Amino acid sequence: MKEIHHWIDGAEYKGTSGRFSDVFNPATGEVQARLSLATKAELDHAIARAAEAQVKWGATNPQRRARVMMEFVRLINRDMDQLAEVLSSEHGKTFPDAKGDIQRGLEVIEFCVAAPHMLKGEFTDSAGPGIDMYSMRQPLGVVAGITPFNFPAMIPLWKMGPALACGNAMILKPSERDPSVPLMLAKLLQEAGLPDGVLQVVNGDKESVDAILDSPVIQAVGFVGSTPIAQYIYERAAATGKRAQCFGGAKNHMIIMPDADLDQAADALVGAGYGAAGERCMAISVAVPVGEKTADALIEKLVPRIEKLKVGPWTAGNDIDYGPVVTKAAKENILRLVQSGVDQGAELVVDGRDFSLQGYENGFFVGPHLFDRVTPDMDIYKTEIFGPVLSTVRAGSYEEALKLAMDHEYGNGTAIFTRDGDTARDFASRVNIGMVGINVPIPVPLAYHTFGGWKKSGFGDLNQHGPDAFRFYTRTKTVTSRWPSGIKEGGEFNFKAMD
Ligand code: NAD
Repeated sequence: MKEIHHWIDGAEYKGTSGRFSDVFNPATGEVQARLSLATKAELDHAIARAAEAQVKWGATNPQRRARVMMEFVRLINRDMDQLAEVLSSEHGKTFPDAKGDIQRGLEVIEFCVAAPHMLKGEFTDSAGPGIDMYSMRQPLGVVAGITPFNFPAMIPLWKMGPALACGNAMILKPSERDPSVPLMLAKLLQEAGLPDGVLQVVNGDKESVDAILDSPVIQAVGFVGSTPIAQYIYERAAATGKRAQCFGGAKNHMIIMPDADLDQAADALVGAGYGAAGERCMAISVAVPVGEKTADALIEKLVPRIEKLKVGPWTAGNDIDYGPVVTKAAKENILRLVQSGVDQGAELVVDGRDFSLQGYENGFFVGPHLFDRVTPDMDIYKTEIFGPVLSTVRAGSYEEALKLAMDHEYGNGTAIFTRDGDTARDFASRVNIGMVGINVPIPVPLAYHTFGGWKKSGFGDLNQHGPDAFRFYTRTKTVTSRWPSGIKEGGEFNFKAMD
């Protein structure tokens, strides 16, 4: 059985804990590797070595650090197919979607090439007589990234790019479900010129996470994952004086106004609801048609599209729409929630419960589901299902639809489909959700803007990537300097005491 270990001090580091976690091939259900889970001592070793390496890296001028990022971009592009294959084989998502996962991370690395500009600081000339004032952005030291299974390339890249470009060292603790791509990225960074020890990839579970949270050396924690863990990490990191940004789960609503182009809306819903088997934090999981007529017409357009979806293994290439979910436990949880929807009175318009794929009977495939007449008290509405299940909640008016999205505890993303600019503006302005799409179903901001949800979808006050990332991974030092009148006034010939 293949074993996967850690990346410490620029080399593979064999774990000694004797504790392992299974890495599956979600398409077949087979265990394809076992992952070594770090001990606290191994983690402390990685942190100590990172702290040593950071001193020189932090003092390296920003342009040189940016050049490492530039070369990293080239290498990721060079190895794109190989990275995507490994990503698909552990995660299960389609090959084109795996490339998209890498691409959206790569774009953040491209943005990090601008580190010298982003780190320039501020300067006030003559703030007083002979006084200048300037603010510098300095690295924090050693920081940690803890990442989820669903974007095994993109989110580690969102963490490591800005952290390293700012001059920090990073301990990356990737998801134990699909750990290989982060290790490949660490190797590429070494090839790009990153000094050994500056990025340490330590695999592990709660034990490693807790050791990160309690380490007095770690200065900041960037987390992405489910909400209960995000909140736990935020609170425990804050209790030990760390800076923390923790992004959690989602339940993204898409409002469909009566004037929307319903074909466009239906196409958008199918892609955003079922793409990546619904395992995206920006997936649309709730459709909110406004008015009974809109709802009836939308369902009519959705059903044939959903029934045509092709579900299969990533090895089928471009020929499939989505693959399996990540684990058997995830599949069981999705089917349990679907059953609760039926039991609680929602109308299951497309039933994917009996889905099975010849030759892949043990794979973690879940057929597509569509619910109609879902109400806010149902578990399928309240819970993040993280599977190919779209719920329709019918709203009587725009205000009712807006209130629905606003009252949900999650606030990651949302979208509105309409032809009316006034409605769209009103929605974007009033909704209490971090990322808003207008006729765009998955409004993931590009690398030079920032990404982050509100309410229970995000803990902390700075977003991921874009300018916020450079703020998160640096601290500001402000210098006030006064130079009293000196030599330029002319020579002093008398021997004077200091005063
Ligand atoms: P998860 O919370 O199970 O795991 C995330 C990370 O936390 C992993 O590295 C895992 O090892 C670690 N972890 C798990 N349990 C822990 C515990 N008890 N104590 C300490 N650490 C623990 O999340 P996941 O299943 O890997 O990812 C899916 C979730 O991530 C979904 O809820 C999804 O919405 C969310 N997500 C959010 C965003 C965002 O930007 N808001 C982006 C992607 C995914």
